[in-house]
Amino acid sequence: MSKGARKKRSTRPWQNPDAMRGLGDLLAPAGDVDDELELDGYEVKRVDGERAVKDYVCPECGNTVPAGESHVVVWPVADNDLRRHWHRHCWRLEVRRSSGADA
Ligand SMILES: [Zn+2]
Repeated sequence: MSKGARKKRSTRPWQNPDAMRGLGDLLAPAGDVDDELELDGYEVKRVDGERAVKDYVCPECGNTVPAGESHVVVWPVADNDLRRHWHRHCWRLEVRRSSGADA
């Protein structure tokens, strides 16, 4: 976890590697998540669409995470019985909320 690597927004988007993150998401190997999806105290793993063979219910929005959709599986480090499958965007919101980025 490298939290200190945040850059200021002074660089132009096309010069900023962070702006390419959306593309990087598509190319990243299975199991890796970007900093944006990391949250202290939790393990976060990406599940690729082709490995998502079951439907799950997202704890954030209550909607189905359908089989075949890339998503993340998240559990507290202290208790991996509490694994949950989240939509990526839902987990991202949760991370933002929990890390107080909007405060
Ligand atoms: Zn959701």
